[in-house]
Amino acid sequence: MAVFPTIRLPPGLNRLTWRQLFLLCVLLSGLMYFLRLRRPVTIRPVSGSRTLERGHDLSHRPTRTSWGAPLVWGDSEVSERQRAAFAQRSFRVGLMVLAVGRYTHYLQHFLQSAETHFLPGLPVNYYILTDNPEKLVPPPELGEERSLRVVPVAEMPGWEHLVRRRMDLLASTIDNQVQQEVDYVFCADVDQEFASQVGTEILGTLVATLDPQHTSMPIYTYPYERSPDSRACVLDEEGDYYYTSELYGGLCSEVMALTKVCSQLILQDHALGVEAQGLEESYLNRYLIDRRPTCVLSPEYSWWDSPVTPEVPQKRVISLGRQCASLRDQGKSALNC
Ligand code: UDP
Ligand code: MN
Repeated sequence: MAVFPTIRLPPGLNRLTWRQLFLLCVLLSGLMYFLRLRRPVTIRPVSGSRTLERGHDLSHRPTRTSWGAPLVWGDSEVSERQRAAFAQRSFRVGLMVLAVGRYTHYLQHFLQSAETHFLPGLPVNYYILTDNPEKLVPPPELGEERSLRVVPVAEMPGWEHLVRRRMDLLASTIDNQVQQEVDYVFCADVDQEFASQVGTEILGTLVATLDPQHTSMPIYTYPYERSPDSRACVLDEEGDYYYTSELYGGLCSEVMALTKVCSQLILQDHALGVEAQGLEESYLNRYLIDRRPTCVLSPEYSWWDSPVTPEVPQKRVISLGRQCASLRDQGKSALNC
């Protein structure tokens, strides 16, 4: 730059060349960028109505998506109003999990925490798809109007196999049983716990949950599938937010459509020897671009601690599995991973 030659370096710096100074600036900017990523945004109290834009920032606790769907924080006025509205209605909710192989050890804790925090006092059916019903003996104590259905499945454990089966298992269970018995259904990973209250503010036609790792990050960093060979492929100009596969739900008809379509996409890819990098989550994100959710849950409903996870006012659902995967050995034993 033209001004450079007129600038006098302070004493002590006079042996630095311009090239070294430039490198120092680059290093400092890199450090500042890294620190900004590591110290995620502070979440402020909800006031007024704010929109979460594409490639977004949660620091002002936006309360709706860019297409006008509610973005749910448990303590917001909108959630308060929705709970009051549902208090006047009669409905039943299903909570469906798959627990095969070693994942059955999560079952008892998952159910106990759901009994305490998931729609407490309201009618809930649990649907447990498992290869080991013995893990539910003795059966957990359930509140009034709450019941447990065991759906036996003969599946091999391990993601390599289950990635091709899970969506299909969920779809056929909704088709055969769930839709006859409940109005809304949520699909959840079993390696999670409900840590504080999850109420009727989460009910909607099609509900997805923001992935806590990508809510403070620019859109180009989202791990959408980019290979054009895959049916999960997302083009650069597409996409809104990145959703987690740990928790999604809605009306039975909507969740059945979602699980059926995702299963078909996964099987079509598999037939051609293709598999999206993010496995099931990639197909879920593709689907939710084509059919945007009518209700989006904030990272309060899918939380685990990582350097890029935003602080949230209340951790309502915690992913124990993803938390464990991110820890070193010492942390793992403390968390009983
Ligand atoms: N799962 C299972 N047995 C397995 C692998 C997976 O039952 O061997 C089920 C279980 O509900 C688990 C979910 O599939 O929570 C997703 O797997 P995981 O939690 O390992 O995936 P991630 O959270 O890393 O996407
Ligand atoms: Mn999981």
